[in-house]
Amino acid sequence: MSDQTAPKVNLLGLTKPQMEDFFESIGEKRFRGGQVMQWIHHFGVTDFTGMTNVGKALRAKLEARAEIRPPEVVSEDISADGTRKWVVRVASGSCVETVYIPQNGRGTLCVSSQAGCALDCSFCSTGKQGFNSDLTSAEIIGQVWIANQSFGSVPAKIDRAITNVVMMGMGEPLLNFDNVVPAMQIMMEDLGYGISKRKVTLSTSGVVPMIDKLAEHVDVSLALSLHAPNDELRNQLVPLNKKYPLDVLLDTCKRYVARLGEKRVLTIEYTLLKGVNDQPEHAEQMIALLKDVPCKINLIPFNPFPHSGYERPSNNAIRRFQDKLHHAGFSVTVRTTRGEDIDAACGQLVGQVMDKTRRSERYIAVRQLDEDAAANRN
Ligand code: SAH
Ligand code: SF4
Repeated sequence: MSDQTAPKVNLLGLTKPQMEDFFESIGEKRFRGGQVMQWIHHFGVTDFTGMTNVGKALRAKLEARAEIRPPEVVSEDISADGTRKWVVRVASGSCVETVYIPQNGRGTLCVSSQAGCALDCSFCSTGKQGFNSDLTSAEIIGQVWIANQSFGSVPAKIDRAITNVVMMGMGEPLLNFDNVVPAMQIMMEDLGYGISKRKVTLSTSGVVPMIDKLAEHVDVSLALSLHAPNDELRNQLVPLNKKYPLDVLLDTCKRYVARLGEKRVLTIEYTLLKGVNDQPEHAEQMIALLKDVPCKINLIPFNPFPHSGYERPSNNAIRRFQDKLHHAGFSVTVRTTRGEDIDAACGQLVGQVMDKTRRSERYIAVRQLDEDAAANRN
C-alpha cells in the first residue's frame, strides 16, 4: 500500500517520544516532533500551513501522511457559576462530556475516557448508559485541547486556565489503559500542557491489576471510588468489588502511593447515598478500614438523575458524617455541586452513548414502566 492511501496518523494523540519516532519514520529529524507538538498544544494549530518554522516540503509531506484532528464539539455551555461543559462527538458516533470547574484560583478539567462504562455502579448515570467505545488518546487529550482553546490561553504557559486535570468524566480510565496513559503523559509534558504530576489525577473504581501496571508507567495522583466501607455493601454499589474486594484493593492503592513518595496520598471518593452508606456505623467502619491508608477523603453528595432510586442525604447528615471522620483525624472535604444548571455535576454526565451492551435499553424500559405506573396512579 502506498503512503498516499495509508490512514493518516493523528498527531494530536502522540506523546513527545512517539512524535519523534513518527518524524524519524518518515525520514526527518527527531527534533521536528517537538516543534510540531508545540504548534498543536501551545498554539492550537491544526493546519500544517500555519507552522511557520516547518519548511514547505516537509509541510507537504505531513499533509499527505498526518493530520491534527480534535473531536468535534457538539455544544459548549457555561453555567451561572462559571462551570463549563462541552459535549464532544467521538469516532464511534457516541458523544462524551468534558467539564471545567473554576474554584479558589484553580481550574479543574474533568475528562472522559470512554463512551459509556461497562461497570454499572448502581448510582452512576454513565453506567446506566452502558458501554460503547474506548476513546483514542487523541480524543482524550483532544478534550484538554478544546478547553484550552476555548479560554484562548495560548501560549499555554501564560496565565493558565487549566491547572488540574481529573480523569473523572465518563468511563473507567483503567479499562482504557493504552490510550489514557499517553494522553496523561501529554498533559504533563512541557511541550504539551506542562501540568504537574500531582495535579493530574486518575480516578478508578478499583481495577486492581491495572493500578500496579499504572505505577510502571506514570506517577500521577490516584483517586479511589470507595463508596462503601465493607464488601457486602460495596458489592451492591460497585459490582467490580466482587472481583477485587476491599483488602486487595486497598493494599494495591497503598503500594501505588508508597511508590510515589514525597508525602503523596490517595484520594478516597465516597458518594453519599441517603440511608444507604451515610449512617454513623458506616463512618466508623470507614475509620477502621482506612486507619493505615495515607489518604484524604472527598465526600460527594449524590447527584440525582431520573429514576436512580437513590437520594442525596440532608446537609446535616452530610455534616455529621464529615465531622465523625474529621474527629478521627482524617482530612475530609465535601465536594460542592457545581454546574447543576447545565447538568455538569458528577454522575450526571450522560452524553449520548450508542450502547453496545443494551443496558440503556433495559434502563429506559424500566423507566418507561415506572412512568406508566405513575401516570396510571394520577
Ligand atoms: N470510573 C471512574 C471515574 C469516573 S466517575 C470511577 O468510578 O472512579 C467519577 C466519580 O463520580 C466517581 O467517584 C463516581 O463514583 C462518582 N459518581 C458517579 N455517579 C455519581 C452520582 N450520581 N452522584 C455523585 N457522584 C457520582
Ligand atoms: Fe463506570 Fe465510574 Fe460510573 Fe462506576 S462510577 S459506572 S466505574 S463511570
